Amino acid sequence: MRDISALAFFSFLISPFSFNPMLKYLTYDIVFQEFPDEVTLAVNLSLCPNKCPGCHSSILMGDIGEVLDAKVLIALAEKYRGEITCVALMGGDNDPEMVQSVLLEVKQHFGATLKTGWYSGCQELPKRFNPAAFDYVKVGPYREALGALKERTTNQRFYRVEADGTLTDLTHRFWR
Ligand code: SF4
Repeated sequence: MRDISALAFFSFLISPFSFNPMLKYLTYDIVFQEFPDEVTLAVNLSLCPNKCPGCHSSILMGDIGEVLDAKVLIALAEKYRGEITCVALMGGDNDPEMVQSVLLEVKQHFGATLKTGWYSGCQELPKRFNPAAFDYVKVGPYREALGALKERTTNQRFYRVEADGTLTDLTHRFWR
């Protein structure tokens, strides 16, 4: 994660529970472990509504960062074209329809050259889940007693979304 400015942190303090139906991002990184076999541009979204006890990034609950739409995400991914194999949204449970819409546009722009992923903190996928937008999805809030994805006791699940829309559970790929 990149540095967070004092102004941004102040913004978190004064409005930590905003549920605007829009996406905002705070930071992004190239990651190698969150999506097995992929080099992923992972974009960390704020406005998280999940309030997991023991949250690893509580600042992401705040109304903070820059607005993220398809144009912004495509421009970010274009910067790393040829270096990444996947682009992912980490969060966005305040507006899952926007998550789907943005990733569908990414797919239309990059075609088969770039996969898409989503880390949701909800236990279930949204009612109007559109598998066409995703190659991978992770579901499940962080439960300290159960551990994150790398723990065999975890409540979280990581799926590959197949072409026919079915989900293949790949959670075991995170276990040593
Ligand atoms: S989903 Fe992630 S960012 Fe949101 S409260 Fe839970 S641990 Fe924190």
